[in-house]
Amino acid sequence: MNANDAAIGRMLIPAAEIHTRISGLARRISDDYAGVGLLALTVLRGGFVFGADLIRRMDPAIAVQVDFLRAGSYGDGTTSSGRVDVEHPPPVDGRDVLIVEDIVDTGRTLESLQERIRDRGARSLRTVTLLDKEGRPDRRCTLDYVGFRIPDLFVVGYGLDYAQMYRHLPDIHVLNHEPRPEESP
Ligand code: 5GP
Repeated sequence: MNANDAAIGRMLIPAAEIHTRISGLARRISDDYAGVGLLALTVLRGGFVFGADLIRRMDPAIAVQVDFLRAGSYGDGTTSSGRVDVEHPPPVDGRDVLIVEDIVDTGRTLESLQERIRDRGARSLRTVTLLDKEGRPDRRCTLDYVGFRIPDLFVVGYGLDYAQMYRHLPDIHVLNHEPRPEESP
């Protein structure tokens, strides 16, 4: 991987399992949007790998359009700052929007995104997330499709970063510890 290998802990979800699950999600989504079409709105940056794999497994007969927005609340740490920034939400007026998220933790990011997309006049709104952290009963966002429910651990790989690193790893791993300065690239 790189000089920060020590920060990468056990593999939580191997790539093969991720791909099997995504095929299942894509089949369900294709069934639900048959004859309707959808705008897949991927949340950057973490969702870019998942979004790219998901749309390529959807039924080619479905009219799929893609767009992106940026949202973030974590900075470079591993706990939520509570403040959600959303940059450049695209026009969604009258569209059937599917938000594509990498991971939902407190649900604040998604709640804020869902509110904004609805306010901007989407005709329908659903959300797919690859990972859903368990044990958050006070969430106010809605999840329509979930890849995996995982324990409350900080994970990296398959698009998910720690301080902008590890997005390229094909499997999902637990982060062992925050890298010490001498381990940084
Ligand atoms: P929430 O607002 O639900 O607390 O946080 C959602 C966002 O925090 C995700 O889109 C993701 O960017 C980041 N996040 C939450 N948990 C993790 C995690 O375990 N690993 C990584 N890399 N990012 C996370």
